[in-house]
Amino acid sequence: MTTPAPRPPAVKLAWRIGLPKFETDREFERLLRFLRQHRGAVDELALFETVTHHLYLPLDEVLVPRAALMGRRLDALRAAGFASVGINVLCSIGHANEAWDYVAPLPFQAMIGHTGAVSRGCGCPNAPALRAYIRAKYALFAQANPDFIWVDDDIRMHHHGVSHGCFCPVCLDRFERSTGVAYSREALARALNEPAEAPLRQAWVEQNIRTLEELLAEIAGSIAAVNPRIALGLMTAGPAWTTYSGQAFERWFPALQAVKARPGGGFYSDAARLGLPLKAVEVGRQRAQLPTSVTDIQYELENFPYQALQKSTGSALHECTLALAMGHNGIAFNALGGEGSDDEFHGIPAGAERLRPFWNRLLRQVADLPTVGFWVAWSPELTARRQVRPGEDWFGGDGRYDINKPQPLAEIGLPLGVDRAAASGVVLNGRVAEAFSTHELEQMLAGAVFMDSAALEVLSERGLGALTGVRVKRHLDNGLRERFSSDPLNGRFADDVRDARIEFWGDARGLADELEPLAPTVRVLASLETYFGQPRLGPCMTVYENDRGGRVAVAGYAPWMFVHSLPKRTQLQNVLDWLTRDTLPVRIEETVPLIPIVRLNATRERGAVVLLNAGLDPIPQATLQVRAPDAAVRLLLPNGSTRRLQPRPVPGGWTVTLGPLPAWSTAVLLIG
Ligand SMILES: [Zn+2]
Repeated sequence: MTTPAPRPPAVKLAWRIGLPKFETDREFERLLRFLRQHRGAVDELALFETVTHHLYLPLDEVLVPRAALMGRRLDALRAAGFASVGINVLCSIGHANEAWDYVAPLPFQAMIGHTGAVSRGCGCPNAPALRAYIRAKYALFAQANPDFIWVDDDIRMHHHGVSHGCFCPVCLDRFERSTGVAYSREALARALNEPAEAPLRQAWVEQNIRTLEELLAEIAGSIAAVNPRIALGLMTAGPAWTTYSGQAFERWFPALQAVKARPGGGFYSDAARLGLPLKAVEVGRQRAQLPTSVTDIQYELENFPYQALQKSTGSALHECTLALAMGHNGIAFNALGGEGSDDEFHGIPAGAERLRPFWNRLLRQVADLPTVGFWVAWSPELTARRQVRPGEDWFGGDGRYDINKPQPLAEIGLPLGVDRAAASGVVLNGRVAEAFSTHELEQMLAGAVFMDSAALEVLSERGLGALTGVRVKRHLDNGLRERFSSDPLNGRFADDVRDARIEFWGDARGLADELEPLAPTVRVLASLETYFGQPRLGPCMTVYENDRGGRVAVAGYAPWMFVHSLPKRTQLQNVLDWLTRDTLPVRIEETVPLIPIVRLNATRERGAVVLLNAGLDPIPQATLQVRAPDAAVRLLLPNGSTRRLQPRPVPGGWTVTLGPLPAWSTAVLLIG
């Protein structure tokens, strides 16, 4: 007997179907026609149970008949030949305040924010009555005999019509039982903003984690009691939004016994097209955090609220390609409208069907390979462990903890990876380093680290300043630019000037920090100067090799904006190459807006470089230096074609020349 060969990885194309698309027979017939027309792009269908983000719908009057209807629709879809059909439960806590003037009000404890604001649409997940309602709700939908049930991404304690929950009496009582301290809502919110109350903040985030963990376990139990064969999936929100809820995938996915995941984030419009590669990083972070028991990882192609001219079909398909590059193996298309015409929605399924061979080829090449590049440091414990200094608001937004800030590095073609263990180096920005132990930071500093001067201050506070070679001498905030030194890392751009006009962009604090070298071997790459050239101020960018063998760069002048010029890009490429001892996986020679996502095995003999031309001009030519052993290299295009390339050997790897690459397009290098 021979065991069958394992099936090669293949992309799963799934569709999320809104209630208005199947509620009436007429709409359902229209949906079936649409799906049959796009049969080649439909592997799975998930029906939404409700049309609003408001949690509560009466069980007997609404959800019982709705579950029965959905059961009939699932049967009809199976009969029409769709093999995998299930239910997407939109609301388990509620997403927002919506339609409160006329929907049934919550019959149980509403979520209450730290300010005392009361949610109109979202309930408290610790309220026993809510738990009972949710158990009954999921049992009903399990009885509709779906192949799978998705739990949507309202499984969070933030942004439920109130910004930060839940400070209701049930939750305060629960917190008292775990900490032994009785707080009023006002006193607790105040205490959470006290600098000395770090353990309290950690305990509060732990309560958030446990609350959601328990809710998920109850959902899983309720479904399993009806039918344990139903596969479960959890949709998550991304850590760049906030880690207030705890981002505890290692607890939440097992609690739900989930085998499906949908990492979340928003890219809704071509109006901000660079949100596309940014979302790829945000969903990549979540994918990298998934337990190995999760095997069906669907990117959500999010076109809410479904208006064709908001986002081009090309953008939608590029999103999917980048998501696969970041380690997803399916797409959940949230791209059909409500009831009525489907005329404007044919482009995406037609495109997905066309690109399926391209996506399958990519998946076969990169299955199980990590992303390789610089890892922008973040932690699920960022909110729990960040400091709060006198006068600061733990609940407020604070750009110093924004892990999306370093994204311009990707925009100038430097490879960012999301898999920490395979990273070429670490980016530390703002005060994110507060989330890590001193030991972890020491370990980072024994490798390649690129940081801004705010991160440097955190490291100095931790006693690690000597490993960076510098300290912040003073904060300046107006009328300054940087002038490059004659250090070889500046290449032919010695004496070049970069002017970010720092006061134009709001609060300029931390945008012109002067650095003071602490060791004679610190190399100064740039210094601050005034608009009149004099006085010449001190260094603002340095590199240093410390006694652990680590290489560290510190950028004190406008580190995360206006790095898109030829001189600055060249300097940063040289710096990241130096930090990694020329092992950064890819270097793109020309100054072109080509964003690489790199997947490689440990020996770099096999993998792929997925490229997005993020610009609106065609790229006539792009020369890629790949730091990998000699291998067969092919160019894979979205039309599914592959072409053998002739790599030219160079020290440390090989180069290939690509082009022309159309504006706003993708292409893939297949390696090995
Ligand atoms: Zn509560």
